[in-house]
Amino acid sequence: MELFRASYYNLLVQNGSTTLLFNGVTSSLLALDRATATAVMPLLANERSRTAGVGYNDWRPPTICAADLPGSFADRLPELIEAGVFVPASIDERDALRSSYARSRARAPLFVTITTTLDCNMRCYYCYQKDGNLEQMSFDTCDNIIEWTKEQLKAAGHPKLYVDWYGGEPMLNKAVIERYTAAITAHCDRLGVEYKASMLCNGTAWPDDARGFVARNRLRSIQFSLDGPERHHNKRRGLIDPNGRPGRTASFGEVVGLIGRLIGSTKIYLRVNVDPYIGRDALELIDICASRGWLDNKTRFYPYLAVINAMTDHCGFLGKSPKFKAFESEFDDIQAEFYTALRRYRDEKSLEVVQYFPTRVTINCAAVSDNAIVFGPNGLAYKCGLDVGDHHRAHGALGSNGAVDGSIQADALPVDRWQKYDPFSHPRCGECQYLPVCMGGCPKAQIDKDAAQIQMQSAFWENNFDRIIREYYAAAGHA
Ligand code: SF4
Ligand code: SF4
Repeated sequence: MELFRASYYNLLVQNGSTTLLFNGVTSSLLALDRATATAVMPLLANERSRTAGVGYNDWRPPTICAADLPGSFADRLPELIEAGVFVPASIDERDALRSSYARSRARAPLFVTITTTLDCNMRCYYCYQKDGNLEQMSFDTCDNIIEWTKEQLKAAGHPKLYVDWYGGEPMLNKAVIERYTAAITAHCDRLGVEYKASMLCNGTAWPDDARGFVARNRLRSIQFSLDGPERHHNKRRGLIDPNGRPGRTASFGEVVGLIGRLIGSTKIYLRVNVDPYIGRDALELIDICASRGWLDNKTRFYPYLAVINAMTDHCGFLGKSPKFKAFESEFDDIQAEFYTALRRYRDEKSLEVVQYFPTRVTINCAAVSDNAIVFGPNGLAYKCGLDVGDHHRAHGALGSNGAVDGSIQADALPVDRWQKYDPFSHPRCGECQYLPVCMGGCPKAQIDKDAAQIQMQSAFWENNFDRIIREYYAAAGHA
């Protein structure tokens, strides 16, 4: 007789008289009525705190067989196994998760991030691209990347290629985008390789024929960002003047006008940046988007909130400011309110697209994929976009033969610090009940031993998990 036990990654959330049972490995969500919950609770052995980073090694649920399950629950055993609620007693769940994570990293599609320039036409106070860094990608470097990409496709037989355009402001060097896309899409079409491109941009340096640019360059998704509603955004994100000084030219209208012209032609993510001074005013964006019809069905428009925090040495001052620190929990409340308001227009599926609801993370960031690379404008090769421009963090450089050479960059940090990233052997993450939906968060924070950033990630789950699960249940149409 096959024996089972409750998954460590089951998380129970009380929602009135209903108990919600979420499993992190399968992302399934079951609702148990009071009687069923009372009957199965001893088998689930799930009374534990919400603390992150502890517990796996002390997990001792009872071993059960089908006959131990109460009433109707017994008939549902196959379904419960499918949902990951019960796992075979003989397996080590964490080991299974670790193997699956390693497979995802090895099999990930070829993912090439290309930084066309480090220059930007804005000087956002929190941005790491500062003071007119004029590194621009040349056609020679672009051609070397084209050769490198072709070589990778040939050598590994990748069936898919994803390209992400990045900066600075990538649209300040449109010629490189057009050149690379024309060459590589023709090559992919010949080989039958699927090609997808995305871009992260500020929405200001676009040509009149914006839709033509999107179609020609096969942009399947674009991320724009606004720093809250117009009065906040324009104060923070003026376009620079011709001498490169921070300017006062308002950009809100231009970004919003561009989104209006592009809506429906590609997937659009709108990142709404929030700091303590923008605060709840960010919620006004919902009505602004709705009034323009962007929240209608089939627009493929996905707004989401992001707190402005310290992500690089440059903006480390934000992490230290008591005001920004105190704002973290307030932001969680604003975020909850934002998604509640958004649900007036959108179902839970569209919120899943912006990864608001917890789902199993197969790979937490392309930086730890075996098949991802980030090219700086001068051909230096990195793994994380935030390292670009910080030359000693490159792991190699692209030579004229189209190969990445680790010896070119004398003081390069070894690439294997990314390959060695392993949340399973991290003393806290390996023990953590949120591991399947978190995977340790940002790998850079772990590699750089940024304890504050990791703690913030843990605090997010500890403080918000239950509320988000209840919202997910409500968004799926339950009271
Ligand atoms: S490693 Fe962290 S900072 Fe770098 S791209 Fe990934 S999530 Fe972003
Ligand atoms: S970073 Fe994520 S996986 Fe690691 S301890 Fe915190 S919540 Fe858990």
